[in-house]
Formats: sequence, C-alpha cells, structure tokens
Amino acid sequence: MTSTEATRTRDRVEILGVQVDRVSMEDAMEILRGFIASRRPHFVITADASSIVQAQTDSELKALYDAADLVTPDSVGVLWASKRFGKPIHARVSGVDIVDRLCRDSADRGHRIYFLGAAHGVAEQAAERLRLKYPGCNIVGARHGYFPAESDEVVAQEVAELKPDVLFVAMGIPRQEKFIQGTRHIIGAGVAMGVGGSFDVFSGKTKRAPVLFQALRLEWLWRLILNPTKISKCRLLPSFVRLVLRATR
Ligand code: UDP
Repeated sequence: MTSTEATRTRDRVEILGVQVDRVSMEDAMEILRGFIASRRPHFVITADASSIVQAQTDSELKALYDAADLVTPDSVGVLWASKRFGKPIHARVSGVDIVDRLCRDSADRGHRIYFLGAAHGVAEQAAERLRLKYPGCNIVGARHGYFPAESDEVVAQEVAELKPDVLFVAMGIPRQEKFIQGTRHIIGAGVAMGVGGSFDVFSGKTKRAPVLFQALRLEWLWRLILNPTKISKCRLLPSFVRLVLRATR
C-alpha cells in the first residue's frame, strides 16, 4: 500500500458485491493520514457482515459502499468471507480502534476532530475521556446524534464552522453513512467516517468486551449479552454465511 493518495492502488476483495479494502490497521492509518493531508473530503466505511447483508436489499447503502474511499474489514465474518473468496484479510480494522488511533495521532499532529452522534452528553463524555487518555488530543467539538434527517444540513453547517479534519459520526448504519454522503461537501473534513457505537464505548457507557472475548473473536457475543436489541443484526449473520457459501461453492 502506497502512502500518497495519487499513487494508491486499492487492493480489494469483493464480498457479495461489496468491495472491502484489504488493509491492516497500519495500512489504514497511513491512508487516513494521506486523506487528512490532502484537505479534500474522503468517506470511510467500516464493513461488517450484517451491513453487507443489508446492502443486498438497500440499494442506497450499496451505493454508499461504492462511493467510499476506504472500506475497512470490521468483523470476523468479513475476515472469514475474504478467505472464502480467495483474498484473505487477516485482522479486523474496527471503528473503535481507528477513533483511538486518530485521537492519539491528533495529540502529536494537531489535526482537528469532531465527534457527532450517540445520546445527549455521550459524545462530550467520550471526548473528555480521550483528552485525559491522550493529553493534547484535539477534539474541537462534540454533539449528540438525535436529530431528524431534515436537519442534516443545519447540523453540518454547525460542524463545518469548527473546520474539522476528521469527522466521526456515531449514529448507526446506515444513518451515519447517509449523513456523511449528504453533507461531506458542506463539512469538507479530510476523513468522514461512521463509527457506530464507538462513543458509547469511549464514554464508558458500554464496556468493551473482556480481553478473552476479544482474543476468541467473540466481541459480537459480548455486545449481544449486554444489549439484546442487537439480536436483529445478529439474525442477519446466518444469511451472510449462507450467501457466502453459495457464492463460493
Ligand atoms: N444513534 C444516534 N442517533 C440515532 C440513532 C442512534 O446517535 O438516531 C446512536 C446510538 O446512541 C449509538 C449509535 O448511534 O451510540 C449506534 O450504535 P450501534 O452500535 O447500534 O451501531 P451499529 O451497530 O449500527 O454500527
């Protein structure tokens, strides 16, 4: 993977019509730094099995995947499927880890980060805790994510005033991606990325899975135990397995 945007050729694996970049965490960080340096808007999606199943029937979500400048492999299902399709990816590159790494980076490099999403007070709390973890971490603004789609442009103007280099949007798939695609020209952040429940994790509202669950790649099971409403997403997993098996028989 090359460092400059102009020379970057994307090494990708197609999983059920969705192109996923075959990147490691280090590759992704290098690409994201290039996006920030370019000062032009880039759109990043983290792909998991359930959203790939959703994209089979949600043409708008599928178009968002097609429009993304980087699609990272964010679930063990995606890793498994990449092997079945003959182009293995070996490790997850999750939204939570990218938020953590870019916050750490911003303490050294000074890039401006905005947190948009989650319930009232959660983004602010997450920002506060990350400033403590990485002194100098440059989170310039935070706002909750409970507003109707009709207000997207107004919220985007508000965010744009703070001139973020990096915008993290934590409003769930596909709402966050639709927000980014509709407003990226207004906000102009070098990196705009949907990060699901990440602010809940950093604020301390949701605990990250114990190391054992992470090591066994069972983080999804831990989240399901803590939040049974996620069962609707988990219900998509058998469909994912079935579709991948059928496509790779
Ligand atoms: N959320 C939000 N606005 C909404 C709906 C949800 O800001 O209108 C937030 C919610 O509080 C949570 C996040 O979006 O912090 C969704 O997290 P989840 O883990 O469900 O994301 P996904 O699994 O879709 O990546």
